[in-house]
Amino acid sequence: DGPVIIVGAGHGGYQVAASLRQAGFSNRICLINDEAHLPYQRPPLSKAYIKGSSGPESLMFRPEKFYQDQKIELIAGRAVSIDRASRKLLLASSETLPYGHLVLATGARNRLLDLPNANLPDVKYLRILDESEALRKIMPSKTRVVVIGAGFIGLEFAATARIKGLEVDVLELAPRVMARAVTAQVSEYFQSRHREAGIRIHLGVQATSIEAENGKVTGVSLSDGRHLPADLVVVGVGVLPNIELAAEAGLPVAAGIIVDEYLSTADPDVSAIGDCALFASPRFGGSLRLESVQNATDHARCLAARLTGDRKPYDGHPWFWSDQGDDKLQIAGLTTGYDRVVLRGDPARKAFSAFCYHGDRLLGIESINRAGDHMFGRRLQAMDRQITPEQAADESFDLKSALA
Ligand code: FAD
Repeated sequence: DGPVIIVGAGHGGYQVAASLRQAGFSNRICLINDEAHLPYQRPPLSKAYIKGSSGPESLMFRPEKFYQDQKIELIAGRAVSIDRASRKLLLASSETLPYGHLVLATGARNRLLDLPNANLPDVKYLRILDESEALRKIMPSKTRVVVIGAGFIGLEFAATARIKGLEVDVLELAPRVMARAVTAQVSEYFQSRHREAGIRIHLGVQATSIEAENGKVTGVSLSDGRHLPADLVVVGVGVLPNIELAAEAGLPVAAGIIVDEYLSTADPDVSAIGDCALFASPRFGGSLRLESVQNATDHARCLAARLTGDRKPYDGHPWFWSDQGDDKLQIAGLTTGYDRVVLRGDPARKAFSAFCYHGDRLLGIESINRAGDHMFGRRLQAMDRQITPEQAADESFDLKSALA
């Protein structure tokens, strides 16, 4: 009953509002938006958008008219506190909004680099449209970038910067790139592809300071004593979930806002979805916090269904992608906790998949330039089926037969 107020107009927030209307929900819906743009897609910010020249409108989920037609009130501003006893949300503008149900879709923010000179204008991050826009604007005047962090965003940016003719160094503390997210085989493939493109990747090192003269970055010093010249630094060292609003309202938080398998917080009138939510997952056992478009939008659809009378536990099938230079990585499933990796296809031919198993159980598939394997993986998951490691490795085994 009552209005649904959604804090955060990113992938999750936008989708809850759209799905509620699609399901016939007729009460007031407010989407609190603290960015000065209509809700937009984030993945292109480190991919096509930063490479190309299209304007911000190319990223928008929907034009302004959609929100008017659907009676979704986009409210510019920031939510600052929740009064749970009287079910009211307070905005920075001092406006208060009564809610029947409150959705926290606050996402995550950049983890900031704690180094001297890290706040200079030539030290950039890449999470929001304004940051991507700013980077795109200054890149033509730069010649040498140090990228701190070889995660998805750092590497996507590095590949684009190289294509645009910059000298690129990438620093990574772990012994391989994307170490937390992909198998060693996939890390190795991307390391060699980026190196072939002329990107210098430095593993097992940390930036210890950023040097500058007259407020302009001149280089980065490393933990192994080396110094790399640079006139631009891009930082991609992960994110922190935005949990403070929930925590200050007395809701349980840990590595995210804690929600049950229905995405409800400890307060039945408050739910949390997307990057900020640490959700109970019966499928995977235990709690998960994922950072992906699939997770945010499937959470949103599950919650919208619950708020319109179709209460089901969240049981989405994870998938993800990353475009780096000419290579497309796609991941189906959760590729953590495996004890065996089986390759299908050939890294030397720039097309292969890593099938990740725990015992005989297929946990997920990381595909490089093998969209067919990726789609197969997603369909297999949806059907709750398996193929054996031997079948996965055998190119003559027809994957489609496992879906019949
Ligand atoms: P977000 O989309 O981050 O939205 C949260 C919004 O809430 C933000 O606008 C934030 O400013 C706002 N907010 C926070 N606090 C408040 C407050 N108090 N009041 C009002 N508003 C508030 N995922 C993939 O699956 N594939 C990809 O290729 C991929 N590429 C990416 C590339 C980049 C550069 C980035 C940054 C992310 C990428 N992701 C990718 C991750 C994906 O974009 C996120 O997982 C997704 O956006 C999460 O959606 P969300 O709604 O939880 O959070």
